Order: sequence, then structure tokens, then C-alpha cells
Amino acid sequence: RKAHVVVVGGGFGGASAAKYLRLWSDGRVRVTLVERNARFISCPMSNLVIGGLQSMAHITHDYAGLRDRHGVRLVHDSVTAIDTVAREVRLAGGERLHYDRLLLSPGIDFMTEAVEGLAGHEDRIPHAWKAGEQTLLLHRQLAAMPEGGVFAIHIPKAPFRCPPGPYERASLVADYCLRHKPRAKVLVLDANADIQSKKGLFLAAWKARYPNMIEYRPNNQLLSVDAATRTARLEFEDVKADVLNVIPPQRAGRVADLIGSHLANGRWVPVNWLTTEVADMPNVHVIGDAALPAPRMPKSGHMANQQAKVAAAAILQMLADQPPNPAPMVMNTCYSFVGSDSAMHVASVHRFDAAENTFLPVEGAGGLSAVASPAEAAAAQAWARNIWADTLG
Ligand code: FAD
Repeated sequence: RKAHVVVVGGGFGGASAAKYLRLWSDGRVRVTLVERNARFISCPMSNLVIGGLQSMAHITHDYAGLRDRHGVRLVHDSVTAIDTVAREVRLAGGERLHYDRLLLSPGIDFMTEAVEGLAGHEDRIPHAWKAGEQTLLLHRQLAAMPEGGVFAIHIPKAPFRCPPGPYERASLVADYCLRHKPRAKVLVLDANADIQSKKGLFLAAWKARYPNMIEYRPNNQLLSVDAATRTARLEFEDVKADVLNVIPPQRAGRVADLIGSHLANGRWVPVNWLTTEVADMPNVHVIGDAALPAPRMPKSGHMANQQAKVAAAAILQMLADQPPNPAPMVMNTCYSFVGSDSAMHVASVHRFDAAENTFLPVEGAGGLSAVASPAEAAAAQAWARNIWADTLG
């Protein structure tokens, strides 16, 4: 009998894991990928769609490669229950999947309830923090904004998906406004005390490119919103905007609750990073944004793709009754656009440290761009094509 691995979530983590489980086992392991969406829509590069610089088609991909080239069984359905004792996953459509090992990469869900007045108003106040309809909606609201209007973005307290993402978004919204509504204002209302990634580079780019357009206001915690007037009630001020983009606080995708694991801070699943197994839960692995990260490990698509390879290798070794690789290494590169023609990056390398029992950053490896440049905009586009190809086969 072939061992069966069920993977839940066909995003960066889950799709990569499904592919590499098949590839590295030479097809000796059966893999079923459960994903509720029919198509893969990439968050990376979605800020370019909001800024009117790319199409939805560019960031939308299908799953056929996983099925046709790698023999992954695709099931487009939602997981509604998980029995970790019987080792069974139940789907909304009624199917039951028995597994030898289960891997969850469900991404994030929003803690919408943390912002009074937000629930049920995602059409008036989009998040666009899961790419898809919301991405297009936010672009349309930007395009319909009157000249001289106010576009406000609220950033939740860290940790959240993609630390540089909101600042990239502010840059690309300003880039759009410079071309179409040069008197507009872009307000960046940040619950954090500071810019979370590439601070100096973002500030330099904003000063050079959008001196009177982007305004950054730190320590600005959002309490409630009024959807009818698009007003954000913050701790110290009220801001009325023409377009209000609230990125809500985040937690592990709710399907993680179904394994009955304890969530760190009520939000993230603690895992043993050597194997990505959930603490005290044999045969169940969690990777990607849903996992409690190792020190200085960002919640990124690139990192989810790398963790998928650690998970796939460990799962195959454990199914073969072999010990897992004792020293896995992962790396991350996050590109950010500061305008249509210019981008920059931050990179890091993380090595598993047996004494600390977690991944630690390798000092001196990785780094930061000296300055944003057109060459890096081309590199960012190439990075996206590569990661989509690597993830989706
Ligand atoms: P996801 O990719 O979100 O995948 C989770 C999948 O699980 C989804 O497809 C979902 O439909 C599915 N799912 C969830 N629950 C269920 C269920 N019950 N049943 C069935 N299916 C389910 N990262 C980078 O590396 N580089 C970038 O440049 C970058 N830019 C970004 C820009 C923006 C605006 C945003 C929002 C994010 C960006 N990211 C970037 C971050 C990146 O998108 C995430 O870190 C990445 O998607 C995490 O992968 P994941 O597998 O954990 O989750």
C-alpha cells in the first residue's frame, strides 16, 4: 500500500509541498491536495494590480501542472473536520480522506472582530490582503477616487502576512495617483511604532518620489470604523477617507482550529521546526503563515515555499522510518516595488540550530539593497515567475 499524504491549502506552502512530496518520492507516495479555490491567485505582485500596472490574469495561475506533471490528486473543496485519532479529513462535499500524514498550509484568517464596525463591510472597506476579488475591488475604488481625494491604509500590529507589503502598497497607490490624481493624499496609519521592513529605503523613496503625497503616522491603533462614511476611528484621531483600506489583524487559518492544537497568543500554531510537526501531535504538520515563526522568520510566500521543502523531506524520511535531516536551511527574499519602475529587496538565510531547537538567522548572510533601482524591478518580476513555476510545477 502506498502511503498517503493529505495537504490542505494550495497556496505557496501547500502547493509546493504537494509537488515536492511527489517529486522526491518518485511517485511512491500518494498526495491529495485539498484547496477550496479553483485557481491560484498570487498575493505577491497583487499590489501592482492595485496600482493599475498589472492585470489579474498575470497573477492568476491554474493547478493543472501539479496534476498533469506530478500526479497530485486535486480536490477543490473545503475542509470541515479533522479527526487526528482516526487520521481522517472531512470535506464539505461529504468526502472523507484517510491520511498517513497530514500537512496544513491554510495561510491566514482575519480577526475582523477586533475592529468594531468592520465585519460584513469588506466591500466598502476592502482588505485586499488575500488576492482575488478584493484586489480588483481596491483598484476600482482607487480609480474612482476623486482628484484630491484621501486614500488611507491601516496596518495592524505585527506579526502580519508580508511585513513590507503595506508600505509597498502605499508606494504603488502613490505611483498611480502621481499619474492620474496628482493632488491626492496617501495616509499610512500604522498601529506599529515604526515601518516594519526596509524602513530607510521606503522613507528615501517616498521623499524622492512622493514628497507631498504619502504621509506616515505611526502608533495609530484602529479602534472602529464607520463603513457608511469610510471613517477610521483611531486611538488619537478620526480619519475620513475616500478609499479606506483596513488590513485587519491576522491569525492562523481557521482550519488549524480543527486539529485541536493550542495556538500561541491565540493566533499561530507552534511547530517543531526540524520536521514542521505540530507540537505534541504526531503525523500532523503545519507550515506557512499559519505557523508560529522561528526568530526573525517573515510570513512570506518565499518562506512558505522553503518550509514546504523542509516538510516534504521530513515527511518522506519519517514515512521511511529514517531520521529527518538534522540541519535544514531555508532562505527568503522579499522584493518591494517603490514605483512602477523601481524595486528593492531584503534577503535572509536561516539554519536549524539543534541547541536552540529552532531556525536561527545566519549572521552575515542575506542583506538589503543599497537603493531601489530599475534593475531590481526586473529581478522582482523574475523572482515572481520563478516562485510561481517552482510552487505550481
Ligand atoms: P496561502 O498562500 O494563503 O495559501 C493558503 C491556501 O489555503 C489558500 O489557497 C486557501 O484557499 C486555502 N485554504 C484555507 N483554508 C482552507 C480550507 N478549510 N479548506 C480548503 N482550503 C483552504 N510573499 C513573498 O514572498 N513575496 C512577496 O512579494 C509578497 N508580497 C505580498 C503582497 C501582498 C499584498 C500580500 C497580502 C502578501 C504578500 N506576500 C509576499 C505574502 C504571501 O502571500 C504569503 O506569505 C503566502 O501566501 C503564505 O503562504 P501560505 O501557504 O501560508 O498561505
